[in-house]
Amino acid sequence: MKYPIIIAGPCSVESEEQILATARALAQIPQVTMLRGGIWKPRTRPDAFEGRGEQGLAWLREAKQQTGLPTVTEVATPEHVELALRYDIDALWIGARTVVNPFSVQQLADALRGVDIPVFIKNPVSPDLNLWLGAIERFQKAGLMQLAAIHRGFSYYKETPYRNFPMWEIPIELTQRLNVPLITDVSHICGNRELLQATAQKALDLATDGLMIECHINPDAALTDAKQQVSPEELKLLLANLNFRAKQTGSVEHDLASLRGEIDDIDSELLQLLARRMEVSAQIGEYKKSHNVTVVQMDRWKKILDDHVATGKEMGLSPELINKVFEAVHQASIERQSRIMEAGEDID
Ligand code: PEP
Ligand code: MN
Repeated sequence: MKYPIIIAGPCSVESEEQILATARALAQIPQVTMLRGGIWKPRTRPDAFEGRGEQGLAWLREAKQQTGLPTVTEVATPEHVELALRYDIDALWIGARTVVNPFSVQQLADALRGVDIPVFIKNPVSPDLNLWLGAIERFQKAGLMQLAAIHRGFSYYKETPYRNFPMWEIPIELTQRLNVPLITDVSHICGNRELLQATAQKALDLATDGLMIECHINPDAALTDAKQQVSPEELKLLLANLNFRAKQTGSVEHDLASLRGEIDDIDSELLQLLARRMEVSAQIGEYKKSHNVTVVQMDRWKKILDDHVATGKEMGLSPELINKVFEAVHQASIERQSRIMEAGEDID
């Protein structure tokens, strides 16, 4: 495999016309090095489109023959492996829902023993570094030499602007522990088109070895993941606007970029927590209003602040910082509650 690698193509192979038209357009984009297309789709609900199966493999092979682009698809069972190999698929990826199950991963590794094909292993849905490492190790032990990891973000317990929260520190640690190339699947991280450009640039700044981007000839009509797919024209523009810096593994810039990625994640969590705190505070304001209780209850606030200062100290945080941050947060909370009190009517 040649890196950096840019994998583009539809979430799902839907019809012969769709994959051929998409592949032909992608072949005109110089940065694109590989064509993706889902043949068997893991869906959350049973009535959703589950992929075209074997028929789709023939179309994918035809797309390769017409464009010269090597192909990659997801396999989840030994039967998928056998069929994909029969139809000359050039590389395979293991999906996030499969990687969570070591039995499935082992079955796939066994099915691929002795086959010299690139295998890309996505991170599991849950933010579990060992599960991801373990899956890659199962393929290594089965003798597969051309492995790469795909970072596609993680399920998160709260709403975030992303479909799958990136948690950049996890793929960074993975590449420090295992010497495998890293590909960033920005489409499944973002879940929408708007965040793609910035997220792809960020991945490149963190020294990723490639990108996976879902691209469909008619994105709005896609049978799966319509919101996050882009047209070939949009992809062309997106790639042209990226700054492909020379990879500088181990350099100061790389180390700094990793740390900055971590700070960005933490800030994003802080913002979400602040927004949630303000929301709960507003609910309290409404309760106080309907029960005729004053907004400021100094005794309770003093106790909270003392507790926070003590806890913060144990965590190595200065009382000045704790006081400053929580006074500001508390003040904003009081203002919000006062506005609710002043409002003429109950807000329900
Ligand atoms: C996909 O690539 O279309 C896909 C289903 O990905 P994931 O396993 O990351 O959800
Ligand atoms: Mn998809």
